[in-house]
Amino acid sequence: MERLPSVHRSNCGCPSQLVKPCPYCSSQIPEAASKCQFCERWLDPALDGTLNADSPPLLLPPRHCSGLALGSLVCGLLWIAGIGSMAAVILGYLGLRQVRRDPLRIRGKGMAIAGIVLGWLGILGSVLLLALGIYVWKWR
Ligand SMILES: [Zn+2]
Repeated sequence: MERLPSVHRSNCGCPSQLVKPCPYCSSQIPEAASKCQFCERWLDPALDGTLNADSPPLLLPPRHCSGLALGSLVCGLLWIAGIGSMAAVILGYLGLRQVRRDPLRIRGKGMAIAGIVLGWLGILGSVLLLALGIYVWKWR
């Protein structure tokens, strides 16, 4: 039961421009690569001394989304007179830290960044609204 990846079929031997997702970290790596340049895992389990040959290869728990990043995005969208925005910024930075710590298992970097941006925009909007309110109130 040998199942080698079909990367050795190149006729000309020239490096292929095709890419494939790394089964471990989902990064785009060259089709001909035998080792992921991002997570530094061997793609062929036979080459990886750290992997048990009996264990099913290419099985890693699927990456789940950072709850903090999701919360950040939701709070950023809700705004709640600036309160949601502040929560979005805090949750967003916490979410980013979480993703950086464990990028192989947690995703949601884009969501966290979106939450942070929305959060700052919301805070800015709140400050502008407050300034406008004071201005209107003063010159009434
Ligand atoms: Zn990888």
